[in-house]
Amino acid sequence: MKPSAAQIVAERIVERLREAAYEAYFAGGCVRDLLLGVVPKDFDVATSAHPDAVLAMFPKTFAVGAHFGVVLVCDKVDVREIVTEVATFRSDGVYLDGRHPAEVRFSASAREDVLRRDFTINGMMLDPILQRETCSLTSSLLDYVGGQNDLRDGIVRAIGEPHRRFEEDKLRMLRAVRFAARFDYVIDPATEQAIRELAPGIAQVSRERVRDELTRMLTEGHARRAFELLDRVGLLRQVLPEIDRLHGIEQPPEYHPEGDAWIHTLLLLEKLRAGAPATLAWGALLHDVGKPATFSHNPPDRIRFNGHVEVGVKIAHEILRRLRFSNEECTQILSLVENHMRFGDVEKMRESTLKRFFRLPRFDEHLELHRIDCLSSHGDLSLYEFAKRRREELPEEQVRPALLVTGRDLIEAGYMPGPQFKQMLAAAEDAQLEGRILTRKQGIELVRAMFPAG
Ligand code: ATP
Ligand code: MG
Repeated sequence: MKPSAAQIVAERIVERLREAAYEAYFAGGCVRDLLLGVVPKDFDVATSAHPDAVLAMFPKTFAVGAHFGVVLVCDKVDVREIVTEVATFRSDGVYLDGRHPAEVRFSASAREDVLRRDFTINGMMLDPILQRETCSLTSSLLDYVGGQNDLRDGIVRAIGEPHRRFEEDKLRMLRAVRFAARFDYVIDPATEQAIRELAPGIAQVSRERVRDELTRMLTEGHARRAFELLDRVGLLRQVLPEIDRLHGIEQPPEYHPEGDAWIHTLLLLEKLRAGAPATLAWGALLHDVGKPATFSHNPPDRIRFNGHVEVGVKIAHEILRRLRFSNEECTQILSLVENHMRFGDVEKMRESTLKRFFRLPRFDEHLELHRIDCLSSHGDLSLYEFAKRRREELPEEQVRPALLVTGRDLIEAGYMPGPQFKQMLAAAEDAQLEGRILTRKQGIELVRAMFPAG
């Protein structure tokens, strides 16, 4: 595998530190990825050099986590600026708040630094200089925790005593699930047992961090497995009780041969591709969140979920607020939930309604949610195909034409601005979108016929 620009930069940093007689290695996720043959997203360097020494040694640096001994070193390859995290070997002191160590001690050894890391597969270091000389990854590895074996066997295992490690930092519980899902690994039984016992402690982690972990799980291409694991270890009930309630919510078999609302949601998650937009992924997760509260079954009538969309929007809104989503993301996710049943009417929609439907921001996400919703139930894509074809056929200037009749035109025509204006403009726009009027004059005539009071 040809080294990436980020790897070349990180190697240069290790070399400089070595020349100054410090120890320095690649550490953590990048070592894991190199062993897996995956190109690491970024490279982290661990060193015996004190942060002050690192700051002095490189021309462009930022002390981001001075307290934790983390210095960002910036370097350029061609025109690309590459930022490498250089962290001083450390051991963490006691954890008081279930998330952060109260103090860190810079320590002399790589071994100590590894022991404070989360999982064995994330706890290896690599000597890139030795690797270059020997052309061997494994012989240049520092593996104090059996990371290589667990990587080979596909196991996410806490370093040290799992209970203690999760008590220190509760976020690690979500990280365990995320890595197990991403690599399709199992969680080691003792590690899993500790998570089960400590799951309620996830409440100590900030909601933004929980949100970010969940978003990563949803958008890395293994969302179904991630949510199955969250459920299995008891974290789902803690972080998203509203989704946990989808379990056992029966659905009408003629529309949903796949099973209950939980299975249906998992099937959607399975269809989210790696790199899917976060809003689409959350829309998929939440689209049927209103079903448990609206379930009704009065035989011989079929099972119904009357009003599940409106109730779902309300519940989804509470979840998104709780997880501190931005207004922009919240609006889009709620729009996905709110509009997901409208595809049922798409063939019968008036032309003006259809065009307005297509104007929803990022309509492609609505379309994709509908596609995976169908594929996760009855499998009939005819309405999806219809909507997609109509959307592609219609040029933008027909979906969003310049308005023939504006407020100013109405005033010129003798109408007084007032509450009826909105209706008048909407009527004229509908007629325009349906091709019933072609000019401003026709538009004014139409308004006069409909609103004779003017
Ligand atoms: P990714 O590919 O998702 O970035 P990563 O392993 O690089 O995975 P990071 O969050 O970038 O994960 O962290 C880098 C390294 O820092 C980890 O590999 C691990 O050794 C250590 N680490 C990160 N977060 C924690 C934590 N909460 N507790 C202990 N060690 C951690
Ligand atoms: Mg990383």
